[in-house]
Amino acid sequence: MGSNEMLIGGKWQSAVSRDTIPMYSPSDGKEIGHIARGTAVDVDKAVAAARRAFDGAWGNMAALERGRLMSRLAALILDHHEELAQIEAADTGKPLTQARTDVTVCARYFEFYGGAADKLHGETIPYLNGYQVIILREPRGVTGHIIPWNYPISMFGRTLGPALAAGNTSVLKPAEEACLGIMRLAEIATEAGFPDGVINVVTGYGEEAGAALSVHRGIDFISFTGSPEIGTLVQTAAARNHIPCMLELGGKSPQIIFEDVNYEAAIEAVIKAIVQNAGQTCSAGSRVLLQRSIYESFMRSLSQRFSRVRVGSHTADLDCGAVISRQQKQRVESFLHGARDSGLEVVATGMLDKSADPNGYFVTPTLFGLVPEGNDLAREEVFGPVLAVVPFDDETDALRIANGTDFGLVCGIWTENGARQMRMAKRVKAGQVFINSYGAGGGVELPFGGVKKSGHGREKGLEALREFTVAKTVVFNHG
Ligand code: ADP
Repeated sequence: MGSNEMLIGGKWQSAVSRDTIPMYSPSDGKEIGHIARGTAVDVDKAVAAARRAFDGAWGNMAALERGRLMSRLAALILDHHEELAQIEAADTGKPLTQARTDVTVCARYFEFYGGAADKLHGETIPYLNGYQVIILREPRGVTGHIIPWNYPISMFGRTLGPALAAGNTSVLKPAEEACLGIMRLAEIATEAGFPDGVINVVTGYGEEAGAALSVHRGIDFISFTGSPEIGTLVQTAAARNHIPCMLELGGKSPQIIFEDVNYEAAIEAVIKAIVQNAGQTCSAGSRVLLQRSIYESFMRSLSQRFSRVRVGSHTADLDCGAVISRQQKQRVESFLHGARDSGLEVVATGMLDKSADPNGYFVTPTLFGLVPEGNDLAREEVFGPVLAVVPFDDETDALRIANGTDFGLVCGIWTENGARQMRMAKRVKAGQVFINSYGAGGGVELPFGGVKKSGHGREKGLEALREFTVAKTVVFNHG
């Protein structure tokens, strides 16, 4: 692999235009590589290569063999664990420990879906006398994947794992802000022995390569993870060709804390869920809904712990790294200014470590208290280490506030009361609900996705495997 090349049809090649895009490390703003600036012509080549593989080597391969290849890739990822983690940390700015976890998770996806490849069974349906009906679960064909910059390596596994296990071939468009780890993974996948054209990676700008992929007639399905705005564009483009898509678009996920909470467990989970990846996680727990009767005592403990959060270079491996880019830093800061201008109280801030280079894109984690439920900070996705605490009176109030945003991705519920746990779990509008825990990012086995503006369709778990298939009903009249 040359540093400016993409993987198309099993060959590393430059963009047809020969243009490249520089990549910078968020920790110090220094250039760390280049990627090819792929455009519509490169996407065309990749889709054609994926189609050939689907109609050829991959389509003819037994599920068991597909699974074996995926397991081999999982093992190779683990063999290259530290190398991949170092690339990911430098590329995204995240602390090394978090990058290491992402690599482990990526391998887990290929283990999980590799093992599932030959267990994707169809169904039979009892029908009229003299008939037999079978449902075949077939791959969709060529699947397009557009993914963001926050967890490139882990998302490579999350999106390609189920697609490949189900028998699809793929064209992946990673984010232009961070994808060096993905390029290395694609190279490792080639070493694992995937046939040419099964995994194609086209790098480039969203409005060029991404837009070309989402409007392409040669794909059969598209999986998008990113912002609601771009998700709308992708879905609209795909709709023109009647191509189905699944969208994972982020959230404003609440952690609802009732007065009978276990303080220690909740505080650790609350901090982790907003500090992990500098808050740039779709499922970040970015709102805490806190019962008024314990507001002061809980906030005292939370703010003490919050003020010990340390921010610095990925190499220093602290709690929190830089955000992805100057633009993202400005976006987060504009939320901070807006919150201060609207008179919100800063209850605590984290500490900027000496490893934080002045040219890096660091944002000091900030905890706001008594945030009115209508304030932007309680409703909008900031995608930074900013936590808004909103008080509530009782269960009904908590539910109303929790369900009162446009999003519905994840929800944490903290209470020892079993009946309340069940009532709340059933009534919150979210794709995942955690009781007395919070699992931002965790669990490859757990179906994940949203309702409302958080998107539709399910990643992860066996649900994702179904998303990447389509049912075919076959009716036999055997008399
Ligand atoms: P984020 O908020 O994470 O930056 P975006 O929605 O901007 O998310 O980007 C997510 C992915 O969508 C990236 O790979 C990006 O290149 C791609 N993208 C951006 N604009 C478009 C577009 N117009 N069409 C298709 N993909 C796009």
